[in-house]
Amino acid sequence: MTQFDSFDHDVLVIGAGGAGLRAAIAASAEGVSVGLVCKSLLGKAHTVMAEGGVAASLANVDERDNWKVHFSDTMRGGQYLNNWRMAELHAREAPERVRELEGWGALFDRTKDGRILQRNFGGHAYPRLAHVGDRTGLEMIRALQDHAIHQGIDTHMECTVVTLLRDGQRVVGALGYDRERGRFRVFRCGAVVLATGGLGRAFSVTSNSWEYTADGHSLAYHAGAELIDMEFIQFHPTGMVWPPSVRGILVTEGVRGEGGILLNKDGRRFMFDDIPELYRNQTADNAEEGWRYIQGDRNARRPPELLTRDHVARCIVREIKEGRGSPHGGVFLDIAWIREKLPGAAELIKKKLPSMYHQFKALADIDITEERMEVGPTTHYAMGGVRVDADTQMASIPGLFAAGECAGGLHGANRLGGNSLSDLLVFGKRAGTFAANFARDNGGGRIDEDQVQRVARECLEPFERSGTDGPYLIQRELQQMMQNLVGIVRQEQEMREALNGILSLRERARQVSVEGNRDYNPGWHTALDLGNLLTAAEAVTRAALERKESRGAQFREDYPNKDEAAGRFNIVLRKVDEGMQVRREPIAEMRPDLRRIIEEMG
Ligand SMILES: Cc1cc2nc3c(=O)[nH]c(=O)nc-3n(C[C@H](O)[C@H](O)[C@H](O)COP(=O)(O)OP(=O)(O)OC[C@H]3O[C@@H](n4cnc5c(N)ncnc54)[C@H](O)[C@@H]3O)c2cc1C
Repeated sequence: MTQFDSFDHDVLVIGAGGAGLRAAIAASAEGVSVGLVCKSLLGKAHTVMAEGGVAASLANVDERDNWKVHFSDTMRGGQYLNNWRMAELHAREAPERVRELEGWGALFDRTKDGRILQRNFGGHAYPRLAHVGDRTGLEMIRALQDHAIHQGIDTHMECTVVTLLRDGQRVVGALGYDRERGRFRVFRCGAVVLATGGLGRAFSVTSNSWEYTADGHSLAYHAGAELIDMEFIQFHPTGMVWPPSVRGILVTEGVRGEGGILLNKDGRRFMFDDIPELYRNQTADNAEEGWRYIQGDRNARRPPELLTRDHVARCIVREIKEGRGSPHGGVFLDIAWIREKLPGAAELIKKKLPSMYHQFKALADIDITEERMEVGPTTHYAMGGVRVDADTQMASIPGLFAAGECAGGLHGANRLGGNSLSDLLVFGKRAGTFAANFARDNGGGRIDEDQVQRVARECLEPFERSGTDGPYLIQRELQQMMQNLVGIVRQEQEMREALNGILSLRERARQVSVEGNRDYNPGWHTALDLGNLLTAAEAVTRAALERKESRGAQFREDYPNKDEAAGRFNIVLRKVDEGMQVRREPIAEMRPDLRRIIEEMG
């Protein structure tokens, strides 16, 4: 019998990033007891890395902005596969959530008259991103955390949840282990909020931290919940490409928002060569107009570097593939050029983009105020995730809620920059509130001791084996395969090869062995993460195979065009006895008032 410690909470929040912290605060405000579990130390969640800003139509910089424009931009960016009710709630509630954060002590950059400053970002019609230089996530986490720790929330740091516990269909708890000593912990609760972030570690080139191993996606799936839109993985156009040790680290879109331009090896500003029809009316057709937009000219249209991420990433890949890339396999991103336009440009760049300045100086010995950066696409964000009800954030099984990057629906086929941080605040709050109500109405459930013992035993099995593959080998093979076969450009045959590969890696993962003991053992932790990565990889691949068209973040060489019929369904995945079931779920007809907004915005 494996021994474990037990903890009781009304609401258990798994994940302490922006979504988890906001959910915990909201649940606590309802007067229930809250437990908050996270893999790393409090304050170290991935949200801390967010750079460019949080999108909210505060209209501080351009009074033409409002929730309707934000809603319309989000839907267009997501190619209309978004859950429109989520997009509505998000656009309506984001300004209030940002002001509330300010009230809790977040210090945003200011306009000259002392209001929250907002910057340009891809796909947003007006300057909309509230920011703190290029360290917005740090400030957001700091403010949320300061607020949360005064709410009487119990935190369980450096603890990884490995399974959700069910009473019948309902989720009533979770089993985890503490990373330091490897001791098991059972959490009993009335409701669980998943806020575990993304899955970028399933790919080899990624901006995501070690925590992004798809845990929430996998926990929900194995508990019987549905996943949605898993085919849509955002490849951010600008990650570092050189030196190799830093490949994939993000270069914020804020660089382009401040005037950075993309150039190929011939010095051509190639983004002007391919402007999609959907955005033609909103995009500058010459460099001079683009620069006026950056300078705040309200009659100018945005430069093509600020088109949506899916499109910019594909244009970069085209330049590289056709031999016009930079020496290390990327293209050039140039912010230094604004010296031609502005006196004091170097100081301005350092002030607006301090992290980028230090990142390139320290990691690549490049001074971005004088030299061009080399950049290329990097796996950045999962649009897909746990399928939730738009208003309550409850998953398709009772007692389970999800918010933030691990939840799906809001972003459709492509997320606009800045819309994640606002997503965390809006839907984190909703998830926490509704989870608390659910827990209060339903009380706790019965913990299945047999399930606890069985899962704990399975977790320890890698110690009992020797001579089989180690976890890092399997992880690396999976990452390379996903990058090469289910990456930014996809086609049927390669994805079928990937699917077979995933299934055979799963067999090997079942036999994986680790050395040492349970005391802080990263090999063992990786062995346990493998199952999550493989579940997510399979979901991405199966959904990408099912969507036989190119739309948003999914580009299929064998189906290079959009298919109107495919624009009317989402792809939903669920665990059944035979394996992973894939189905097409028709998109509910949009409310007429929302449809009118989209028509009015053109
Ligand atoms: C470099 C970078 C810059 C970005 N910049 C922006 C930006 O400017 N604007 C924007 O809108 N978006 C940005 N994004 C995206 C955004 O930061 C993320 O989508 C967002 O922070 C995710 O927040 P979250 O609360 O969902 O998850 P996270 O902040 O990742 O938190 C996940 C939490 O879950 C915990 N966890 C995970 N698995 C388990 C488990 N099994 N058991 C227990 N705990 C677990 C982790 O420890 C962590 O506490 C950026 C992303 C990157 C990588």
